Amino acid sequence: MATQDFYAVLGVTPDATDDEIKKAYRKLALATHPDRHPGDVEAEERFRMISEAYSVLSDPKKRAKYNMQRRMPEALDLSQPITVQGARDLLGSVIGDVFGRQRKQRRRGRDIRYTLTVSLPEAALGCEHTIEFEANGACSTCDGTGTKPGGKPPVTCPLCKGKGEVKGEGFLSRWTRCGRCAGTGMIQIDPCDKCRGRGSRRERRAFHIKVPPGTEPGSEKVVEGQGEPGKFGGPPGHLKVTINTRKHDWLERRGHDIHCEIPVSVLDATTGASITVPTLRGSVSVKLPAGITSGTKLRLRGQGVPRTQGPPGDQFVVVNIETPKLAKLSTTQRERVQTVLGEFDTLTREVPEISPKVAKLRDFLAE
Ligand SMILES: [Zn+2]
Ligand SMILES: [Zn+2]
Repeated sequence: MATQDFYAVLGVTPDATDDEIKKAYRKLALATHPDRHPGDVEAEERFRMISEAYSVLSDPKKRAKYNMQRRMPEALDLSQPITVQGARDLLGSVIGDVFGRQRKQRRRGRDIRYTLTVSLPEAALGCEHTIEFEANGACSTCDGTGTKPGGKPPVTCPLCKGKGEVKGEGFLSRWTRCGRCAGTGMIQIDPCDKCRGRGSRRERRAFHIKVPPGTEPGSEKVVEGQGEPGKFGGPPGHLKVTINTRKHDWLERRGHDIHCEIPVSVLDATTGASITVPTLRGSVSVKLPAGITSGTKLRLRGQGVPRTQGPPGDQFVVVNIETPKLAKLSTTQRERVQTVLGEFDTLTREVPEISPKVAKLRDFLAE
């Protein structure tokens, strides 16, 4: 069942003539047309409703059925809901392409894309950056219309009739961009001197971008209406900023946790020294348990990426005990390392408790 009385929607009585209905519809549809109220959802819905009412009441068969339905509310609903585009098309078919043709030319401006690269801690903890770039902005002289102040508004291109392209003749007929209007479908009669009718000018633009804490790499921030200006009164495009994250030397993000692998000397691992570990929030001191083995994972609670709700993630530190590397040493250096390690090895044979597992294997093999 239609939610509203179609006669009431059009403001006519149930015995209105076809002419009265058409007149009422024209007046209301033009007044509520979405092109006159860009972004106004309520007007759009009224425009749709008016069109729906008219599509039923203008058709004698549908109107008769609707009249019956009005008297018997339980009867089947025969009216088809109409879309906004359908409503636009209906108006175009009734009063010609007043808005229809113009609408095609009112183009939304192009989006501007910008990639902002920040460090891993900046993306994780949030930051602010000023970005600067050169782009097309609305011409200040003509306010982006392309028309000289006080001049005549643009007209539909007579060659392509506003289509922006022209169809050739004969069997080679295909659509070609219209040269007269450069494919825009419109011609400026009084072009603005400053921008030569384009409505836009190259300019340097700067924006302050806030990157919220916990921003995922590759996420997009949209600054609405800050793209290139629209054509022929169309709305501007958007500025779309993609947030990229630079690779960190030590830290790697996995969801809300941070992972890192920290090299530890044999001495520090043996004695259980305090080591310094980089985190998102600066470096922190971590006390190693004495005798820690390579591959042990330590957890630094709350040192991960902040969440919108709840505690932040953690940082996991994998301890990697570094074996001495001899390859790039001079002969003297190498001999020193070998002497020291040789002494150490002798000691482990005297005191098996230093390396119990090595001693156990040695005993096993000696049997
Ligand atoms: Zn201008
Ligand atoms: Zn043209």
